[in-house]
Amino acid sequence: MELEPGVDDTRFLLFAGGTRLVCMDCIDENVERPAQLMSAQVARRPAKAHRPLPVRCDLGCGARKLAQPLQSREIFAQELGLEQALLLCEPALELLNQAHDVTIDIATRGIVVHASDGGAARELGVSSFGSRSNRPHSWLAPLFVGHAIYRQAAYGSNHPLAIPRVESVMDLCSALGWLGESEFRESPRASVDQLAWFHAPEYVQALKHASETGRVDFDVRRRYAIGTMENPVFPGVFERAATSVGGSILAAELALEGRVVFHPAGGTHHGRPDRASGFCYFNDPVFAALALLKAGVERVVYIDLDAHHGDGVQDAFVRDERVRTLSLHEQGRWPYSGEVSDTGAGRACNLPVPARINDSELRVLLEEVVLPLARMAAPQALVVTCGADALDGDPLSSMQLSNVALWSAVERLAALAPATVVLGGGGYNPWTLARYWSGLWGRLSGREIPRELPADALAILRGLRCDLIDDEDIRPEWLATLADRPNRGAARDEIRTLVNLALAEVDQSAWTPLSDRASRQAVATT
Ligand SMILES: [Zn+2]
Repeated sequence: MELEPGVDDTRFLLFAGGTRLVCMDCIDENVERPAQLMSAQVARRPAKAHRPLPVRCDLGCGARKLAQPLQSREIFAQELGLEQALLLCEPALELLNQAHDVTIDIATRGIVVHASDGGAARELGVSSFGSRSNRPHSWLAPLFVGHAIYRQAAYGSNHPLAIPRVESVMDLCSALGWLGESEFRESPRASVDQLAWFHAPEYVQALKHASETGRVDFDVRRRYAIGTMENPVFPGVFERAATSVGGSILAAELALEGRVVFHPAGGTHHGRPDRASGFCYFNDPVFAALALLKAGVERVVYIDLDAHHGDGVQDAFVRDERVRTLSLHEQGRWPYSGEVSDTGAGRACNLPVPARINDSELRVLLEEVVLPLARMAAPQALVVTCGADALDGDPLSSMQLSNVALWSAVERLAALAPATVVLGGGGYNPWTLARYWSGLWGRLSGREIPRELPADALAILRGLRCDLIDDEDIRPEWLATLADRPNRGAARDEIRTLVNLALAEVDQSAWTPLSDRASRQAVATT
């Protein structure tokens, strides 16, 4: 390969799950700071046929080299002098030769290639990994974070969360042979010091004291909203809430190694710095994002697919340049915030959907708002809250999504960044919750969803109980299968209106990374 004067032949490595091109010198220098090596962009200039393309080190050290346009599957890796092969499908390769800005993401389902022309991003193609053994060396296997503490009784009786949740997901995944020892990490409990990253120390102490004594004074109840019907104090409430925070911090740290981490006990998205709210004592999604930021990540996107507005997370980061939040929730539901006009300080997007949203409508919102906006933010890491109350059959919402639609949605989101934390959230129907989250782990970890369940798995579904759902309302498929039948239908006018409103309201320039804005300006002025 011929090099232009001034262009050296430094060796490059595709780093962090194959999403960042970094020269070997910078890798040596930054090996202690993995987050520095994380990014999701390999920028390319428009390719004229057979003209060499300049490639620069993503850390901006100045190392660069020329590579020929891509001609066949392995050439991309060879031309760039990469340590590992990046295999792309043929259509993606063809389009790659003609595209302007190309982003390459490694996701559970394969290598996803996006191109953007003048702002609008589109997916060019996916190079499937086929089998697990075809995964590039640096792609690490997904992990499941859990803990036995979720087996203990919680919330007292007559509370919507007093149903089997995380434990049934762990049991169902085990029964399906999907939770090998190497895939599971036990959640640590967050320390009081860690909890103070976000929560007021006096609130942390109040919850700890209430948990130990089982007593809540009138003043404490009024001040911190604990010991109420909504946020009851029960034995071990502090340990349980702190374990879910510890799990989300661990999930973020593991995700930064270049993988998807599933933490179904997370997703307490209503927790406030100084009080409990909406069954949430602490706010573990905030901690997942904070752990990413503390590790040096500069662009985090938070996406909330729970039936309720992710108010606590949006408000936590409304003034943080590094975090964007997007919440899709049912309109007119508690906490009654998250109107489409609510864009935080420009860094939030809210999609309040009408009752009875179907899979086709979710797809419209994903393809026209959620995915383009998330891509625009070029996230280095993603946190996704997957409340199971968005499913058809949940007693506390009227959304009618199938689990298959949500599995695909989460998979498509996880493909946007090299590091993804997938959290649980609400969900008050133990059958739909167990099927959704177990199947989600199955899909994220590359398993086939079985049509028929083994006897152990069936026994788990048949053993679930819920006071909020009458026996005659338990659908036969909840007891027999994992995958729902898709709920397709026409996209109503309200959905089209919502897309238009959201795109008009959202501050697209605030969703574009600062560095991109600066470099675009530099290009425009030269
Ligand atoms: Zn919810």
